[in-house]
Amino acid sequence: MNLPRAWREAARWLSRRLGRRIVALFLALLLAVQALSFVATRESVARNARAQIGRELQLGERVFHRLLEQRAHQLGDGAMLLASDYGFRSAVATKDAATIASVLLNHGQRIGASIALLLDADFALRATAHPRAEALMPVVRRLAEQSSAAAAGPVSEIAAFDGQVYQLVMVPVRSPLLIGWVVMGFDMAQTLVQELREITALHASLLVRGADGARWRIAASTLRSDQADALGGLDWTGGSRAWRERLLIAGEDFSARSLVLDAHADHRLRAVLMRSVDEAVAPYRQLQLVLAMITGLGVVVFAAGSVLTARRITTPVRALAQAAERLGRGDYGSPIAIEAADEIGDLAQALEHMRQSVDAQQREITRLAYWDGLTGLPNRAQFRVSASAALAEAQRPVVLRPGDRRDGASTHVSVLMLDMDRFKHVNDVLGYDIGDDMLKQVARRLSQVCMRQGDLVARLGGDEFAVLLPGADTLGALRVAERVTAALEAPLVLQDQTIDLRASIGVATSPDHGQDADTLLNRAEVAMYAAKRRGAGALSYDPALDSGSARTLSLLGALRRAIDQGELRLALQPKVSLRTAAIEGAEALVRWQHPQRGWVPPMEFIPFAEQTGFIRSLTAWILDECLRTWRVLQAQGLAVPLSVNLSTRDLMDLDLPQKFASALQRHGVPAEALCLEITESAIMDDPARAQLTLQHLHEMGVRLAIDDFGTGYSSLAYLKRLPVDELKIDKSFVMQMDRDSDDAKIVRSTVDLAHNLGLSVVAEGVETPSHWRVLRGLGCDYAQGYLIARPLSVAQFATWASQWRGHDARVLLDAPPTVV
Ligand code: C2E
Ligand code: CA
Ligand code: CA
Repeated sequence: MNLPRAWREAARWLSRRLGRRIVALFLALLLAVQALSFVATRESVARNARAQIGRELQLGERVFHRLLEQRAHQLGDGAMLLASDYGFRSAVATKDAATIASVLLNHGQRIGASIALLLDADFALRATAHPRAEALMPVVRRLAEQSSAAAAGPVSEIAAFDGQVYQLVMVPVRSPLLIGWVVMGFDMAQTLVQELREITALHASLLVRGADGARWRIAASTLRSDQADALGGLDWTGGSRAWRERLLIAGEDFSARSLVLDAHADHRLRAVLMRSVDEAVAPYRQLQLVLAMITGLGVVVFAAGSVLTARRITTPVRALAQAAERLGRGDYGSPIAIEAADEIGDLAQALEHMRQSVDAQQREITRLAYWDGLTGLPNRAQFRVSASAALAEAQRPVVLRPGDRRDGASTHVSVLMLDMDRFKHVNDVLGYDIGDDMLKQVARRLSQVCMRQGDLVARLGGDEFAVLLPGADTLGALRVAERVTAALEAPLVLQDQTIDLRASIGVATSPDHGQDADTLLNRAEVAMYAAKRRGAGALSYDPALDSGSARTLSLLGALRRAIDQGELRLALQPKVSLRTAAIEGAEALVRWQHPQRGWVPPMEFIPFAEQTGFIRSLTAWILDECLRTWRVLQAQGLAVPLSVNLSTRDLMDLDLPQKFASALQRHGVPAEALCLEITESAIMDDPARAQLTLQHLHEMGVRLAIDDFGTGYSSLAYLKRLPVDELKIDKSFVMQMDRDSDDAKIVRSTVDLAHNLGLSVVAEGVETPSHWRVLRGLGCDYAQGYLIARPLSVAQFATWASQWRGHDARVLLDAPPTVV
């Protein structure tokens, strides 16, 4: 892991939590301030130290020169003393060079000189103990020049000789007249640099360039020997007199000042004054170390302090976060107790208030979610919960030991679904207040009927109720449904209005019809809608009722195939005049020649086709077939109107008139050739819409008949408003007519009323000559039934017609009408 990444990770770790972030921020700030002040001090210390050293070096140079002068004086005095010594002067007078040389040596050694020369008055060398004294003659000449200026005093010069540094002093020898000059040379290099170091604390080195030229050599130095060697190794040729720079020698940083000591000669002698910067800065370094330690301590103290502070902040914040998380999970029950006197405390308190009010609301919502406000009954949600519980209980395996009885326990659970008939009507006509009251009364009556332990009455919504019957099988549930129907039968009086309560009830039972609450509810609903369609009161679930069941789907496929493959046929049942026995029309009835099942009666697939909506395709086929047939009959001189049966679904189709019009046009058949039979219940499903469709059809010229009259609930007064031409009295009344006097009365009053309304009347189910006679006696207009003919194929119809006209009709007409 590389460093920047490690940093990034550390930063991410720190920033993940508020506490860490606070600590990190404090520490970063502290470190930044400390680092800044550290750098600033360091910089200014270094700058100050260098300036200080510069001044010290300048001073050192002056001291160095002063020391040289001082030394020259001392040595000059010493030499003067020697030159004035009697013994010395006498020796010089001997003119014996060897004697003079040994005197020079002796006297010189006494004052510490390592070189001694005697010159004559004209500065020519007279005697010396030094073997290579000749080499000093250029220096002597310079000294001689000086001496003329200095009158009788000593003169001196510093010079390199033999790789050493010497201070040469020249003094006159008088006896009493000038008889010569003495030159003494002192090897003073080490003393000089040492002295300078003692006074100024500077390092001093004397450098000599060898006679050979370029190489520099250290003559004396206060430096460590390795540093001195390094210094000597540098090239000191050229440069100014006070050449100065920074030197890095043997790892130590120096400021240096270099002086040329023999400027008037051949620049072979230099002094280098140095001061170690590191040494000068060392005390400050110490200080910085202390500062760094203080910083380190500060970091620790700060870290501890900020951790504490952060914890003071984050502990309650974390507690708050946990509380918020609990609330998020929907746990509104645990109080939020955070003791803090600051803003966090306020926040905690606000959160606690929120929790309390949400808790209260939650309870209210739960209450509302499971109970119906109007009736006080459980609602759909509660019903599902209870049904699921009852099903689980019923499905729980029970281990029966010998002798045990499973007390009344049954594995059946039934669901009863109940929908009030025409409740919308009550709401629309009598108002919502009465509608609400009615629902409350229904709830009360239902609860009175279903009082067994475990029974549950619920309002699912609108005018829909459900009853849960644990332990009841389908038969038991249907018995309960009967009791419910009976309980609802007593008329209800609300605000002086008498209301007939009637409900359609569907029953579904576990395990036969489903294993779970939703399936049972769905299937009870399917049964309930079937009951409503049939006006059957109560029905239990049957897959045949269910347009979603597998059986239904396969039946639907078979029906589709029936149309595509021409398995359907049209049967015609004649309608004749009761007065003249003339053939006045025929009813078209569909027949299905199933390849496997043979003839399938219409009652086995028409209701199903109505439920699934397939009836529209079927009606389209029948219409087409009818119009084609009519053209065939017309060609045979049998152009009688054909009656087509329409179902509710057809009537709800607002495009139906348009479809009829285009079919009529396509076949070139007049509208008068069609009569449409509609049952009362089909109209009553949505009277407004039905009326609109019928109006259009009537305007086209199509005749309209009310089918199965007497079985529904419609009143003649209502029918008056419909554009109807004909009534068909249901065959059940006709067939019972000669046995049941009530039925006879119904038929009679229907005929009369229909005539009063200007409608013609058809009697269905005319099976016997006696029916015929009675109907003739009642003034009924037309008859249809087995007596005249069974439904016939188109081919049979022509044959029948000729037979009827030739003979059969006359037999019926000859019999006198029966007067009832
Ligand atoms: P529906 O419209 O009342 O038709 C009359 C039914 O009574 C026919 O039964 C007919 O065969 C039967 N019938 C006629 N004369 C007599 C009689 O003297 N005695 C007795 N007992 N019955 C008689 P079908 O053909 O079985 O039709 C039954 C029902 O199926 C029809 O009742 C009608 O509601 C429906 N249906 C038949 N064909 C069609 C159709 O093409 N479209 C529509 N929407 N429904 C049809
Ligand atoms: Ca009919
Ligand atoms: Ca009928």
